Amino acid sequence: MVYPIYQNRQISIPYLLKIGTGKTAKIGKYLSDKNMNDVAIFFGSGIEDLLGAKLYEGFKENKIKVLYKQDVSSIAFEGATESAFALPEVDAILGIGGGKALDVAKLISYLLKVPYISVPTSISNDGFCSPLTSLTFDGVRKTIKTAIPFGVVIDLDVIKNSPDEALYSGFGDMISKITALWDWKKAAKMGLAKYNDFASLMAYNSLDLLMAKHLTDIHSEVFQKSLANSLLVSGIAMEIAGTSRPASGSEHLISHALDKVAKEPRAHGIQVGVATLLCALLQKNDYLDTVRHALLATGFVDFVSKKPLLKAEVVEALELAPAIKKNYYTVLSQKGVMEKALKLIAKDDLLVMLIR
Ligand SMILES: [Zn+2]
Repeated sequence: MVYPIYQNRQISIPYLLKIGTGKTAKIGKYLSDKNMNDVAIFFGSGIEDLLGAKLYEGFKENKIKVLYKQDVSSIAFEGATESAFALPEVDAILGIGGGKALDVAKLISYLLKVPYISVPTSISNDGFCSPLTSLTFDGVRKTIKTAIPFGVVIDLDVIKNSPDEALYSGFGDMISKITALWDWKKAAKMGLAKYNDFASLMAYNSLDLLMAKHLTDIHSEVFQKSLANSLLVSGIAMEIAGTSRPASGSEHLISHALDKVAKEPRAHGIQVGVATLLCALLQKNDYLDTVRHALLATGFVDFVSKKPLLKAEVVEALELAPAIKKNYYTVLSQKGVMEKALKLIAKDDLLVMLIR
């Protein structure tokens, strides 16, 4: 049977997916298996010193040649395109590091149509396997659609050394699926967004991967593996939906607004996690208790309450948030939402710890 209206859209999926311990040393073998012998690498700052020995040992064994390497400290679009012109012909481009190195490598491989392999050294958000790239253009941060990685390799030996803030941020970005999916469904019901059942199912399941196991110890390997899996599936859900809707709703609008107004914006998923609780309350979300329980049980509330978000900045962000994306219905588009939000921030027992 043919579904004419969907025929034109192609969906990419990663062909190489490896999550586990000791993976850095195996990257050479994975590349060799895919006949990718000449590569370019974009490292996050300090990452080559940290992982280079193990990485290159595997490269040597498998005869992988590094034709170009660069340390990435800026996410300026202008600098990234300059690097793209400087690149020799390679079979694959690797991004190894945190957000910056991955975003730059993702953009360059998209521009040059070379397979991109994402090797995140922290799992603080779902960007490592999403079809989106966040860069600055003329000094202003923009998110553009690129492509999902050809491969994702996550070394849990590296992840276990990441700071608590990164792990809680990843968890906050993950739990936001609950409010994002509510916004998406509601917008679709009102005829304001296209819904995709399969992408939605994937996003729900990605959360289930983490929540159904009732894992609460962010330092345990099984939690970190589940979180990595969940964020990865969430990224692919965006690719399938053709929009960031399954992974990003009202709570992300608040975080984007905080990035603009806050003196010291916090990690993406920390802001998103706090905003998820506020938005779940505003939505009267069926999974509100799940959100509350998860934020408490994992220690997210404890961690963030030591350095809470600033109330004045959150209020400013709330004013800005509904207009961050044009024609984007969320719970924040509803009438009287500001008043309700202010009451909740003043009264809800968890929000008063997270926003002060
Ligand atoms: Zn996010």
